[in-house]
Amino acid sequence: MMENKDRCGICGRKGQRLCPALIGMICTSCCGAKRGSTLECPPRCIYFPFGTEAYDLWLKVDGSWMPKVARYIVDAVGRLQFDRVLSQMSSSNGKNKDQWEIALPAAVYYMLSIDRDSEGKTLADRWEEEGWKGLNNDERYMMKFRRKSLPAIFEIQKVTDTQSMRCADMLDPERGPFTMFDRSLGRAAIPYSRFLTWLTHYPHFSRPGGGGLMIPHSISHDYFDELKRRARVKRNESSEKLQFYIAEHFGECCELVTSKLSAFNKRMISSIDLNVCRAFYEVVSDLSEIEDILNSKPDFEREEREIEEGDPEGTVYYSWLRRGESKEIEASMPATFRYDDESQGVGSLGTLKLYTNLLVIEMFGRMKFDFAKNMVKRYFGHRVKFSHEKIEDFSDQIGEQSETREEGRRPSTPLEEKDEVPIEIQQAVLEQYYRNHYTNFLEDNIPALGGLTPREAARDPEKRPELVELMKHHIHQMISLSREKGVTINLDWVLEELGLDELL
Ligand SMILES: [Zn+2]
Repeated sequence: MMENKDRCGICGRKGQRLCPALIGMICTSCCGAKRGSTLECPPRCIYFPFGTEAYDLWLKVDGSWMPKVARYIVDAVGRLQFDRVLSQMSSSNGKNKDQWEIALPAAVYYMLSIDRDSEGKTLADRWEEEGWKGLNNDERYMMKFRRKSLPAIFEIQKVTDTQSMRCADMLDPERGPFTMFDRSLGRAAIPYSRFLTWLTHYPHFSRPGGGGLMIPHSISHDYFDELKRRARVKRNESSEKLQFYIAEHFGECCELVTSKLSAFNKRMISSIDLNVCRAFYEVVSDLSEIEDILNSKPDFEREEREIEEGDPEGTVYYSWLRRGESKEIEASMPATFRYDDESQGVGSLGTLKLYTNLLVIEMFGRMKFDFAKNMVKRYFGHRVKFSHEKIEDFSDQIGEQSETREEGRRPSTPLEEKDEVPIEIQQAVLEQYYRNHYTNFLEDNIPALGGLTPREAARDPEKRPELVELMKHHIHQMISLSREKGVTINLDWVLEELGLDELL
């Protein structure tokens, strides 16, 4: 009796591990040859590569599956055809390694189970007829799911631990949320990031094919619409049509991400006023009269600084602040850039320089410039005489730099480029800054919400989904910023204020 209990419940040789499916001992070769297929393995068995507790074993199977399958395909279609499809599945401007990591699985899945021969059969069908020659039990079990792989645009909704995430597929919304295993994504993942890739669903977790291509929020709506237009998918049509379209045009769909992003960045840059504007005035009164005015107005603060290149020796510099009558300019600025009382900080308008008979104002952006020129008339009147102005456009220079950046821009913070500040102070300043920023945001009319304030949109059943989408973007940006600066900026209070429980 004792002896039987120690023996493998299948072949009768010496049992080496406890098998929860047999409720008894099993030898390693019977376990390896029968797990998943003839044995009904529970998900928590540490010897079952497709359960939740043996992910390292799964990685081992994956490591042998992909080369075997790629070799089978090359033998069946020829090297030339394989390479042709591989380059079709990668974007032509994807010269980097990442692109090939996504393109290889895309090509393999496409040739294995999407592309059909003249008899309507896929390579997987043929191989199955041959009894999966060359594949072991684990690899055959893996094939069962991998041959059903399809393109996906998945969104990370919650990072559970370093290897698992809760995700949803925007191309297959009916599936609902699922668990994804991926260690490199798990380490770096930021909630609400979206990726284009191929996806395989196993019974207890899902896997992306070679990571994924990030689709930034700034373009994701536009990108999705364009995909549907290209695939001729109408409203309410099943998502399958779109999945199959992407399967065939995967390389083009990757390229579309790059081109949409570059177009977005160009639009963004052209909408930002990147002009450095200067106006030159001749001082026709006594210089001391000008100095008296500058000293009596809270708008101006004298600065002690080195003489700038090109300025004559003896030039005196003043910061021109949004204070005193110059605060009026804020009436025409978006709420999030205003400061309601001075304890929150004072915005800048530009610089004023004074040198014997010359007064120069220097502003960044035409709006501030036009405002400042009117203020010069108001404050100095006939004491100065306009001479000329000079406007320099910097958008071309910025354009080149941001081509390579992942996402457009973020509002600059008071601590940009001041990394020597202790982290606790940075934390406190940034927290206060974003507390003010989002307090204003809640009451601000947002173009992306059709001009409603976030509070109004939260109460409007039609606008609410757009608000959820917008807040996902904001949360994503704040987490990126927090990681970059090594601080924590939490937007939960904004979500609570808006009652967006689905994002908490
Ligand atoms: Zn055995």
